Amino acid sequence: MSLQAYLSRRVVTQGQTSPAAILVEGEQIRAVVDPDQVPAGAELHDFADAAILPGLVDSHVHINDPGRAEWEGFETATRAAAVGGYTLLVDMPLNCLPATANVAALEAKREAARGRCWVDWAAWGGVVSDNQADIAGLAEAGVPGFKCFLIHPGIDGFTMVTESQLRAALPHITRTGLPLLVHAELPGPIDTAVESLAGADWRRYATYLQSRPDEAELSAIRLLLSLCREYGFRLHIVHLATSLALDELRTARSAGLPVTVETCPHYLHLDAETIPDGATLAKCAPPIRSRDNRETLWQGLRDKTIDLVVTDHSPCPPPMKRLAEGSFKTAWGGIASLSLALPLMWTEASRRGFTLQDIARWMAGQPAKLAGCARKGRIAAGYDADFVVLDTDEEFTVTEDRLHYRHRISPYMGEKLRGVVKATYLRGAPVFVEGGFTGEPRGREWRR
Ligand SMILES: [Zn+2]
Repeated sequence: MSLQAYLSRRVVTQGQTSPAAILVEGEQIRAVVDPDQVPAGAELHDFADAAILPGLVDSHVHINDPGRAEWEGFETATRAAAVGGYTLLVDMPLNCLPATANVAALEAKREAARGRCWVDWAAWGGVVSDNQADIAGLAEAGVPGFKCFLIHPGIDGFTMVTESQLRAALPHITRTGLPLLVHAELPGPIDTAVESLAGADWRRYATYLQSRPDEAELSAIRLLLSLCREYGFRLHIVHLATSLALDELRTARSAGLPVTVETCPHYLHLDAETIPDGATLAKCAPPIRSRDNRETLWQGLRDKTIDLVVTDHSPCPPPMKRLAEGSFKTAWGGIASLSLALPLMWTEASRRGFTLQDIARWMAGQPAKLAGCARKGRIAAGYDADFVVLDTDEEFTVTEDRLHYRHRISPYMGEKLRGVVKATYLRGAPVFVEGGFTGEPRGREWRR
């Protein structure tokens, strides 16, 4: 097997960014060495000043396949991922048909994915109102963990769980030792807010924001922390949008509770003050909140209360965004961002003094850890040879041709961003280089 050497003046390994050569044999990294220690005979690939980061891991993606492939699908989602520097996606269990709430559904997903993926993938198992008996089987079949909703997920067919249903599931989840990812909003505060908005103008972003108050997230997180204390399961809060929960999360963590937290590029980039009325491309749940809130989320990343950043890539056919009427009431909530998350994050992070180390931790190391994937998320000996080559200075304007997911709509269209993905390598071979795809789809399922 021939030895490949990938060189750059900025290789992002754990703890440092420095000139290095990544030595790759087959699909794995054999060693990371000084550039002058590359063995004779190795094939050299010199990326000069472009940074090499670990392949990104997105533990929160809605691929919608099988069953709603017209919304997205394995082929388009994984192409968009490769363009964005991702080498592993973990699919959410709800938008596909059947929902991934039992082993038969997981097998149907495996069938749908075969031969169609440009990057590796895995699937979270669903916890719904009545599938407590399926939890152990899903764990045995290889899911890395579970996902549930404390509120209607916006789509029928995947039920939310009430507190008592969650309590029925938790002993089963705790026994697996796997994390439970939770959409943390409770319906009570939202129902109350919506009632008070009778007659309000739903084209206004302010109406939508008022309809999903901080209190919905806060009360859900309080409930979850108390259940975490009681049952001892690994709790993961998905897409934290309210910064008001950070203090309680910090306290819970210092008390030793096994809780982790994610947020998304849209909460870190956009703000309620500048979302135009009718701009339903920016609708997601929980909602994008104020500019002050956004800056406090960045503080949460700085002090490590927030562990990771994932896309929550959640596309839909364009008519479902109700762009013509611009109603935040009826539009689908979800933002597609697989191809843009890295430049969005680099643009925002670099202007706040964060480094490539931070990006690699938030977008590769920590999500891989959440998914229990010990082979990805780091550039180190023994890991999969997954990496992304990033020109950190080049700027570009977001246009449709850069998106690559099925429906090329985006709240970021026309924005100028910093950081261009030059190449993405999956297990030792390029999948995306300088704007084009290479070879055949080689992505496969990552199983525990
Ligand atoms: Zn989601």
